[in-house]
This record gives sequence, C-alpha cells and structure tokens, in this order.
Amino acid sequence: LFVDQPLGPGQPVALNGDQAHYLFSVMRLSRGAAVLLFNGRDGEWRAVVAEAGKRAGILTCETQTAPLRLPPDLWLLFAPIKKARTDFIVEKAAEMGAARILPVQTRYTNADRIRQDRLQAHAVEAAEQCGGTFVPEVAELQPLDRLLDRWPAERRILWCDEHQAGQPVTLATLTALPAGPWAILIGPEGGFAAPEQARLAGLPQVVQASLGPRILRADTAAVAALTLWQIAQGD
Ligand code: SAM
Repeated sequence: LFVDQPLGPGQPVALNGDQAHYLFSVMRLSRGAAVLLFNGRDGEWRAVVAEAGKRAGILTCETQTAPLRLPPDLWLLFAPIKKARTDFIVEKAAEMGAARILPVQTRYTNADRIRQDRLQAHAVEAAEQCGGTFVPEVAELQPLDRLLDRWPAERRILWCDEHQAGQPVTLATLTALPAGPWAILIGPEGGFAAPEQARLAGLPQVVQASLGPRILRADTAAVAALTLWQIAQGD
C-alpha cells in the first residue's frame, strides 16, 4: 500500500478514509494484521494494524522488508492523447520503470490540459501493482519547445520518429547506445510539425530511432520504446 508519510521503525502511519475502507472493509483486515507499505522514498516496510475504524486507522511500522529500488535514469516525454490512452501510457511507463513522466504539448497535441493529480494516482497504482518501491513523478503538461530551451546537456533523447520507420532497428544498435541519463520522446497522433522536426534533428543530444516498419499508435509506440530501451540497457 502506498502512503505519503515517513516510514521507519516504530513509526505510526495514519490512514485516510479510502485506505481504511480498502484495508478493513474490502480486504477485511483487523487489529494485528500485517500490511506492506511504501512511500516512494524509504523502501518497503512491514506494518501492523494498531487501530482499525470505518473511515480511519493507524498502522505501526515494524521492519524494512526491501530497500528503495531506484529505476534507471530514464524519462518518458509524450504528447497526451485521448484520456484512456494517456492513462495507459502513464500506467505502463510506471510499470516499466520510467523515473519521470513528462507530458509535453506539441503543435499537433490535441489536449491543452491534463489532470496531473489523476495521472500521478495512476503511477502510484502501477507501482503498487508491480511491487515497486519507487513512484515516478508525473510532471505538469508543458510545451515541448520550452522544455527543450532548458534541456540538460548530458541527457540524451531517443526520438521515436515514424519517418525512420523501415530503417532497421537491431538490438545491436540499441545496445550501442551510450550509458547515462536518457529520455524517450513519443509524438502525438498527428506526428511532429516540420519546425519541431528541424529543431529536434539539430540537437546534439538527439538520437533518431525507428520502432519498426509500421506506424504505431502513440500508446503502442511508448510501450515498444520502453521495452526496447529496457532490453538494450538490461535494467
Ligand atoms: N502522424 C503520423 C503519420 O501518420 O505518419 C503518425 C504519428 S504516430 C501515430 C505517433 C508517434 O508514435 C510518432 O510521433 C512517433 O513518436 C511514434 N511512432 C509510431 N510509429 C513509429 C515507428 N515505426 N518508429 C518510430 N516512432 C514511431
């Protein structure tokens, strides 16, 4: 269970209404039952139920069961699409171990705002589901141009570019990617506009990549790119 509170030996953890409902009404836990907790910072902890109420409760942390496992330093930049598909991208990126998820607004991005809190909650659920101890941050929607204006010199960008489709992508090419911080960039359904393509192509940090011979939908492309990167980096 994810709790946004410090975890440590003997540390009391207060549950909110939803958490109490889930543990005591849905899971039917009672006093003395053990629960595994994580907060994205302190690893995983075994805690026991000290007080169980209908809409509140207290757990007491006992021992750490796993240290914090940080994912590789990989960001996912993607242009938000329809709500359900955007949710899917965030969920899968969190499962696949992206360290940060950055929705970006491009010329052909249909969404002009996102529910950042809802997407962050999806990232938490995904981390819970796959037994992670880390939750990636989902950033607010920001213009791609502005993000590139202050892009860190050392972070490379794997630009998934459908115009490269059909170019051979081999594991050998990907395993030759230099180590270090990376970002994967996935465009919107309409692809990148010509000025965006020109800007990306001129950046020294950018590596253009094909995801195979077919034009994939953006959500499929995000999962394919994360998978290939993970295989290549072995992380
Ligand atoms: N509007 C474009 C078109 O019809 O040619 C398609 C855009 S595609 C649906 C959305 C995004 O997925 C692209 O901007 C790219 O980042 C990624 N993508 C899809 N297929 C790809 C491929 N075969 N290779 C690399 N990137 C791909």
